Amino acid sequence: MSTLKAVRGTRDLLPPETALWNRIEATARAVFARYNFGEIRTPIFEDTALFSRGVGEETDIVSKEMYTWEDRARAQSEKTQTLTLRPENTAGVVRAYIEHKLGETGQLQKLYYIGPQFRRERPQKGRYRQFSQIGAEVIGPPSAGSESPLRDAEILEMLATLLDELGITGWTLHLNSVGSPADRARYNEVLRTALVELAPRMCPDCQRRAVTNPLRVLDCKVPEDQPIIETLPKIADSLDADAQTHFAAGTAALDASGVPYTRNHRLVRGLDYYTRTTFEFTHGGLTPQGASSPGAPVIGAQNALLGGGRYDGLSEMIGGPRAPGIGFAIGEDRLVLTLLAQQELAAIAEKADVFVAPIGEELNPAALALARELRHSGLRVELGDGSFRLKKSFEIADKQALNILILGEDELKSGILTVKNFSTGTQSKIARADLAEHLRKV
Ligand code: AMP
Repeated sequence: MSTLKAVRGTRDLLPPETALWNRIEATARAVFARYNFGEIRTPIFEDTALFSRGVGEETDIVSKEMYTWEDRARAQSEKTQTLTLRPENTAGVVRAYIEHKLGETGQLQKLYYIGPQFRRERPQKGRYRQFSQIGAEVIGPPSAGSESPLRDAEILEMLATLLDELGITGWTLHLNSVGSPADRARYNEVLRTALVELAPRMCPDCQRRAVTNPLRVLDCKVPEDQPIIETLPKIADSLDADAQTHFAAGTAALDASGVPYTRNHRLVRGLDYYTRTTFEFTHGGLTPQGASSPGAPVIGAQNALLGGGRYDGLSEMIGGPRAPGIGFAIGEDRLVLTLLAQQELAAIAEKADVFVAPIGEELNPAALALARELRHSGLRVELGDGSFRLKKSFEIADKQALNILILGEDELKSGILTVKNFSTGTQSKIARADLAEHLRKV
């Protein structure tokens, strides 16, 4: 019988790497709390219409990457539904905002999430079919200030803080404005006209996009197309005064906070709901479109650590009230890859404070009681087994723990235990009552 393996594009995360995942998530939660965000958890699958309407039929995500199935009715009271594993979380958050009438509070909603997303993409380094995103959204009625460019600047400043606190060095913030839907429609036509002549010389995808959704041509990563794309008109020239003022106010606030960024005219993002501000944080030597510059990207060609932007019309697109918002999604898998390139995996592995080695199986119960005592006092304890020879216990303990503690008949009776520290090689006799205190110190 053939052995079963994790499905292509999915993978198991094992210790010690999971310790790094936990550290990243703990840091993100701590930073989000300081910016006064609360956590939201939405279901992993949703009605397919949420994504086709919210994310957009023409996007790569909806047109070819979603895991969608017919969910058959199981009772008379149920209807057969078309469901989809969420490919992103913003649409789900906005659906929840509408469903729970969060807008009626009149307050700005500041929500973050951490969880798996699913896209049937071609797997490669940094790109998986199940991956995890850490994201946040600021959404609310306009009266709550949800459209203010200060919100945009604050989100970007928070992201810079988070990446810095995670210890990610050398990130670049790419910033752009895609304007209002009217600006985008205008720019789409400008592009469409420009592409009539140029598209026949471009890749098949671009030839298709030139007709269906010219804006997406800017996302093209085919090297031969890059010089052509550079000559295309810029969206900045199609923005109305309102979008320009909004962008200028956001960048002025960002300048005041000292967070560095570069304007990237090609950053239009792969999701249809974006309006005005769009951004990406990248890491490594590639720009978001893949044009190379010096420096080695550690996350393969997938150098975007995170992306986001404003989505002032998304709520209405899925049947809700007016609720402008801005948010982002960080690729957690890529954060892990970036951090692993900066530090040894071995440095992440945490050793136990002590390995308790009973001598003889009859000492096993007493060893469990001792381990319980030490664990209750907050120590990380590995429990050996009395059937092991002492030499074997030492070998295992050396790999797994900072100290070894021998528990034989004599030690049990006298209450004086022998502790050996592996890094110094010193052996000490410690009274049971002082053990936890001693181990905490060494
Ligand atoms: P998006 O939702 O497409 O704006 O993506 C936001 C971030 O999620 C990207 O910058 C990546 O870091 C991450 N991401 C998107 N797709 C994948 C994937 N298939 N595998 C791993 N990370 C991904």
